[in-house]
Amino acid sequence: MTKAFNLSEEMSFQPHEYVMDYARSLDDVLTQTIAQYDKYNIVKGLVSGQYSQEWANNVPTHFMNATRVNFGGDLDGQLSTFEEAITTGQSFALGELGLPYAGYRIDAEIMFPFYEICEKYGVPVLLHTGINGPFAVQNMPHWRITNGDPLHFESVLGSFPELNVVFAHFGYPFTNNTIYMLATYRNVHADISVLNWMLGKSLFHRIISEAVEAVGSNRILFGTDQMIFPNTIPISVENTLSLPIAENDIANIMYHSAKDLLNLDDI
Ligand SMILES: [Zn+2]
Repeated sequence: MTKAFNLSEEMSFQPHEYVMDYARSLDDVLTQTIAQYDKYNIVKGLVSGQYSQEWANNVPTHFMNATRVNFGGDLDGQLSTFEEAITTGQSFALGELGLPYAGYRIDAEIMFPFYEICEKYGVPVLLHTGINGPFAVQNMPHWRITNGDPLHFESVLGSFPELNVVFAHFGYPFTNNTIYMLATYRNVHADISVLNWMLGKSLFHRIISEAVEAVGSNRILFGTDQMIFPNTIPISVENTLSLPIAENDIANIMYHSAKDLLNLDDI
């Protein structure tokens, strides 16, 4: 936990002005994240990545682990590890699955055995949909934004009708498609991570307030996807709390939607 970051090496693009003040080491990411959670009364975060199990083990008051998949690795081995992690309370979701980053469409069949496990235990899958960073295709030759269009997941829901899915980043820029999927399938959810700190307040507010008017708020979830940028947390919270929607809708987005999806007791 002492590895230092150099943003020019870690990232392939210049950081947005909001995230200039990035955490300089893994220790800094953790301590600054905990400080922001406490400041903004964030009672639990679902985290995924290389260090998420360690975070959840060491700071269970703040973090829950989700399981990522290495698409080029031993899928059978990862499948049994995932099932064991669910049954032993070490994992609460599958994801974030970054299928478009690896050149897959979000309906890729390589994930189907994992969806069987998700359905069996009532565990949701969090899919990366939409958005990438600047110069996406120059930096990632396999990347195609259309591979992350939420409409592609419709066929998967035909095969896994009880699968709870969360479209990360509200599928931006395919937000009308996300709203259609939310309206049509009761097991579809969407989070507002990255949109709430990257798009600017006006566009973020327009998209989410129109979505709430159209489909309600109880399957829309707050998120940040802050990576090594804990200072995006205040912006995400403030832009969400100031949404031009009813207070109970904001409460759903900030708390109840995720609590219901993850079957959490009062926290
Ligand atoms: Zn993502």
